[in-house]
Parts: sequence; structure tokens; C-alpha cells
Amino acid sequence: MLEALAERVDLDQCRVHTNRGTFTYDYLILACGSKHTYFGHVAWEEHAPGLKTLEQATEIRRRVLSAFERAESEDDPETRRAWLTFVVVGGGPTGVELSGALGELSRSTLKRDFRRIDPQLTRVVLIEAGPRILPSFDAALSATATRDLERLGVQVWTNTAVTEVDEEGVDASGNRLQTKTVLWAAGVQAASLGASLNMPLDRQGRVVVSPELCIPGHSNVFVVGDQARAVGPDAQPLPGVATVALQQGRYVGLAIVGDLRKKARKPFFYADKGQMATIGRSRAVLQTGRLRLAGPLAWMAWLLVHIYYLSGFKNRALVLIQWAYSYFTFARGARLIVNKTWQFYEAGTDDRPAKLGSGQSVTGDAPRPAL
Ligand SMILES: Cc1cc2nc3c(=O)[nH]c(=O)nc-3n(C[C@H](O)[C@H](O)[C@H](O)COP(=O)(O)OP(=O)(O)OC[C@H]3O[C@@H](n4cnc5c(N)ncnc54)[C@H](O)[C@@H]3O)c2cc1C
Repeated sequence: MLEALAERVDLDQCRVHTNRGTFTYDYLILACGSKHTYFGHVAWEEHAPGLKTLEQATEIRRRVLSAFERAESEDDPETRRAWLTFVVVGGGPTGVELSGALGELSRSTLKRDFRRIDPQLTRVVLIEAGPRILPSFDAALSATATRDLERLGVQVWTNTAVTEVDEEGVDASGNRLQTKTVLWAAGVQAASLGASLNMPLDRQGRVVVSPELCIPGHSNVFVVGDQARAVGPDAQPLPGVATVALQQGRYVGLAIVGDLRKKARKPFFYADKGQMATIGRSRAVLQTGRLRLAGPLAWMAWLLVHIYYLSGFKNRALVLIQWAYSYFTFARGARLIVNKTWQFYEAGTDDRPAKLGSGQSVTGDAPRPAL
């Protein structure tokens, strides 16, 4: 195993060029996943982080918790309102889960944490360009999810396209929303390494693969997971979900072992286990086969499935205990605001303070957040 960034694949020479050197291969499995797409507006990323990596998750937490802190110390009512307005763009499972969590956080978790502001007056707006949220679910389940979100105080705006995102807010279908916190969950595009193959890609940049998950003319090069465009029995592309990636990973491992034993390959078959999305701390929607579930039962199923897929008994037991504790006690957690800047001194100086953002301490105090 080696930590490296793959930069280019040379199919003719069977080589992968990385920032740590060039490697030849007998078999190559590309599983580089996906990243957010801002539909050509990459400048929006600065104002609207997405949720894909751990760093992005801590940045989202930093922005959300800092927004409440800033609202608490803000005298101007308009600006305070902007700090207490949260916009989530994209009504797929990620956007639904994020906005539900924000609704829950403001109405339950932070309820008693501030003196001047009432977190319950927080405005959370979920913006979706299509006619309904959770478009990959049955219409009845997306209607239930909409109702559940509204119960948590989330405003769901469908048929609404975001046309501008800046540090003061968003423009959406002719409306201006003043907000300091925008979160992006409006679509993904495959990792860019696939383009270096010079093979057919779909509109999301996914590499088009054969039923055996290989690229044309190269049976030793597999592409799997979010980076691949594989189709199911209905000729529709498989969704970008972990269950697809997991099953494809297992399939490729067995295919290579099969090659060594001179066994003919069978096409990949995706056993669809369904889909789920949570809405706050006790509701979810679940769709698998002909089964449709909503509410606390679906949430319980979500919880069990996610614990089951954690690796190792210790992790499963610990997460189960932590979740149960938080659920029954409404525990607020550490409200930890992680700073982006970690240095106390500028590089190459003995004691000159590093340029921290406004409101940050450079003494022995714990650094305060930059917004
Ligand atoms: C917020 C969120 C919630 C989700 N919830 C669910 C859920 O509840 N259920 C579900 O089934 N799915 C869920 N998904 C989708 C699921 O996470 C993905 O479908 C799955 O992780 C895809 O696996 P993968 O191996 O293809 O890619 P990834 O898990 O994205 O892994 C790709 C890896 O490749 C690395 N990489 C990328 N480019 C390079 C390069 N050039 N060189 C070297 N390394 C590189 C990346 O750093 C990354 O570590 C969720 C996704 C998100 C973002």
C-alpha cells in the first residue's frame, strides 16, 4: 500500500503515473469515486462546501456552529437573521439528511445553549431543482419525507434552481435568500482520472464499462464504484451508492482469482438492497424490493444496517452504545469548532504571530474560529 495521487494511466504500456512515481501493473482496478459538481461554477465551492470528505464534514460543522456563535453576538437584526439562515442545495438523500440534521440541531440540540438568540428561530431551506425531493424514491415516500422535514422546521423549495451563490446568500429562481451558510448537495461527477483513459465517459464523467466491469479492449483494467458507469438488467445505470461499490469490489477480486484458475468470467450482477434516507433523529424512509417504510421503524432499520456494515465488533458495539446514549439523553456532544489554521507562528520566524483570521487568538489560548 502506498499513499499517492494517480495522475494518468497509460493503457498501452500498462503503467500508472503518480506523484510518487510510475508503476506497472498486471491488473488495474480504478475506484477513485466521485466529487461534487457545481455545474461549471467552481467559484461557488468556497461559499457552499459539499459533504464528501472528512475535512469537508468538519468544515461544515465549523460553519454551522460558528454561525450560531456569530448570531449570538450580532446586534443588527438583518445580519443576525442571515447567520441563522441555512440553505442546503440539492434534495437527494445527502441534502435531505443534512437539512433534517440542521432542523433537529436548532430545534432540539442547541435549544438552551444561547442567551440572546433563540436557535429555534433558525430558518433552514432545502432547495431542489426538480419537482420533488428524493427523486430516486417512490413519490409517496418523498411526500412523507417532505412532511417530516417540514415538521422539523425545514422549508422545502422544489422546482427551484440556484443561479448564484456568494458570501451573502443565494439567488434561486428569481428570489434572493440572505444567508451566511450554504451547503452543497446538488450532484456529483466522477473522479477526473477516468478522462486520462481516453475511453467513453458518460455525462457525469463515469467510465463506461462492460458487463464484466472492464473497459473496451482491456480485460485487465476494471473500473468500479462511483467512477464506473455500469448498467443493471433494466439497462439503467447503477446508482452511486456504497452497496454497488462493495459488490463490484468483491466481484473484481473473484474475477481476478477466476482468471488465475482459468475460469470464464460471468457478467456482474447487482443485488439491489434498496435505499434509505434519514430525516432527523427518529425518522427515515426506506425502499427495498416491494417494501416501503417510513417513520421510526425505517429509522431503526437504517440504524441497524449502518451498524452492521461497520467493520469489526468493537466499532459496532461502540457506535451502538454512543448512538443509544445520544438518543436517550439528547446529549449535545462537544460542540467542537475545529479551526482551519493550526500554526501559532509564521513559517521561518521565531515569534511572529501567524496571520489568523479575524476573531482568532494567537496567544496560548485555543484559537477561535475564523469565518
Ligand atoms: C454524504 C454522503 C452520504 C452517503 N450515504 C450513503 C448511504 O447511506 N448509503 C450508500 O450506499 N451510499 C452512500 N453514499 C455514497 C457512497 O459513499 C459512495 O457510493 C461510495 O463511497 C463509492 O465508493 P467508491 O469506492 O467508488 O469511492 P469512494 O468511497 O469515494 O473512494 C474513492 C477513493 O479514491 C481516492 N482517489 C480519488 N482520486 C484519486 C487519485 N487520482 N489517486 C488516488 N486516489 C484517488 C479518494 O480520495 C477516495 O479515498 C454517500 C455519499 C455521501 C457523499
